[in-house]
Amino acid sequence: MKEVFLSRFHWHKRFIFFAIIMPGPARLTINLASLAKNYRILAERFSGQSVACVVKADAYGLGAAPVASRLRTEGCSFFFVATLDEAIELRGVVETPIGVFAGPFPGEEKEYVNHRLMPVLNDLGQITRWKNAAPGAACILQADTGMHRMGISLNEQQKLRDDPALLEGLAVFLSMSHMACADTSDHPLNGQQLKQFQRFRALTPDARASLANSATVFLDKAYHFDIARPGCALYGINPTPGTNPMQPVVWLEAPVLAVRDIDAGESVGYGAAWLAQRPSRIATVALGYADGFLRSGGNNALAYLGENPAPVVGRISMDLITLDVTDLPESAYAPGSMASFLNERYTVDDLARDCGTIGYEILTRLGRRFERVYA
Ligand SMILES: *Cc1c(COP(=O)(O)O)cnc(C)c1O
Repeated sequence: MKEVFLSRFHWHKRFIFFAIIMPGPARLTINLASLAKNYRILAERFSGQSVACVVKADAYGLGAAPVASRLRTEGCSFFFVATLDEAIELRGVVETPIGVFAGPFPGEEKEYVNHRLMPVLNDLGQITRWKNAAPGAACILQADTGMHRMGISLNEQQKLRDDPALLEGLAVFLSMSHMACADTSDHPLNGQQLKQFQRFRALTPDARASLANSATVFLDKAYHFDIARPGCALYGINPTPGTNPMQPVVWLEAPVLAVRDIDAGESVGYGAAWLAQRPSRIATVALGYADGFLRSGGNNALAYLGENPAPVVGRISMDLITLDVTDLPESAYAPGSMASFLNERYTVDDLARDCGTIGYEILTRLGRRFERVYA
């Protein structure tokens, strides 16, 4: 009994000691000033009338409400989301027009009207239903110009040309399409899509036109038209094949929980997927795939401890990541130090490359467990 009590006592004491030095949780910092700067960079670069901001998927994982409010303050007066639910949530944040890429499923038209949402109509069925359910209410037409994913097909475009009555009574505010290869400026599909879009646009000469996602804003002005629809560039992802013209927006840090030394030939983590080639010092950090840090970053990604790069070694666990800190000064990885996984040196594009994916996936997977700080 006495022993149990004592060991509990010790455990308790150790717990208290641990609690004092216990670092905070992993932290995601979203710099709204940089977001605003990115909006201004795009607005300056864009030759058309205005820049509408795409805040689908919770503003690419960064939080639609704070992001949209900040962009609204910056002068953005038109937002796009992907789904009706996202639009209804955003309606509680901004009073501006909101475009919804998916367009209404049958029966949803009234919801669009009630929340003053602008549907993107992607086929003749959606067009007919919108005319019947919301006569005179503004809408957006999207054409498939070669991406073959969404939008009014070539076949249906011809039907609209043959029978102008199909568009009668429809208040088309915007005519749009989406580019498949805008990040490759000399891709032959770009020119084909441009030509196709110009043809489609002629169907609704009074409507404004929109073709440009982030990457397209950095193509020739011929691709710009009236309204741009950038998403990724606002959030710091490089929309060009060259040097990133955007500011980083996201910082991701997690605390070092433990440090240990291992011998050459010993392994780290599940599956013993990393073997020490020399006596090594390993720091374990409180971040894992449950936080949305992609498992493919195991043995590939990099973290920074202060100024010092430390490679991720071994597989990524649900809640933990292991770093090789052998070459780092001891002060850099004392338990409680924050290891940085996204910063101005190691950007979302760098992490994406090392995880075998794109920045969009890195951002939209960011988990709910972080302490979120809006700076
Ligand atoms: C997501 C999306 C955008 C924004 O694209 P980015 O590459 O993030 O700039 C624009 N238009 C449509 C139709 C989209 O689905």
